[in-house]
Amino acid sequence: MKIICIGRNYAKHIEELANERPSEPVVFLKPDSAILPKKMPFFIPPFSNEIHYEVEVLVKINKVGKYIDKKFAHKYYDEIGLGIDFTDRELQSKLKAKGLPWEKSKGFDGSAVVGEFYPKEQFDLENIKFQLFKNDDLVQSGESKSMLWKIDELIAYVSQYFTLKKGDLIFTGTPAGVGAVQPEDVLVGTLEGKDSFRVKIK
Ligand code: ZN
Repeated sequence: MKIICIGRNYAKHIEELANERPSEPVVFLKPDSAILPKKMPFFIPPFSNEIHYEVEVLVKINKVGKYIDKKFAHKYYDEIGLGIDFTDRELQSKLKAKGLPWEKSKGFDGSAVVGEFYPKEQFDLENIKFQLFKNDDLVQSGESKSMLWKIDELIAYVSQYFTLKKGDLIFTGTPAGVGAVQPEDVLVGTLEGKDSFRVKIK
């Protein structure tokens, strides 16, 4: 399986990182080795000085598809989840400044937290509400209606470039409020008020 991630999909997050607003979705991949095994802590990698959390709505693809039309995109997923796109922000900034690919800062082991999935019927897909708490403090709060590109548009867009397969995950981008983690922090993600994941930082 593969993990397809969307960058800069919320206007306020684009502002907080002083990025340019893109004219089409920013896309990058994480390898399957990036998935943090369930219930494992996240170990800050030895090469990193600044790991940021980014809470994101996840979409799990349920069948193979290419050049998917936006109006049929809803047939390609049944479940919605929540996760974290851990990012080595210092390394990403260096790579961005040189125009180099981001993978080392985004695709390292453990960088993809994948929480519980729930049937999409349980959600108002136009307005999925989600939150991230760090040590019980609310640090990120998002709603899918603020996405620049919505889930079905993202599926249509990325499937032009990558054949989607059953089990692939799409990380749909993070709202504002990203920040650094320290050892002993505990991150808890909630999707419509339900606990989706809990990660201890080491
Ligand atoms: Zn992200």
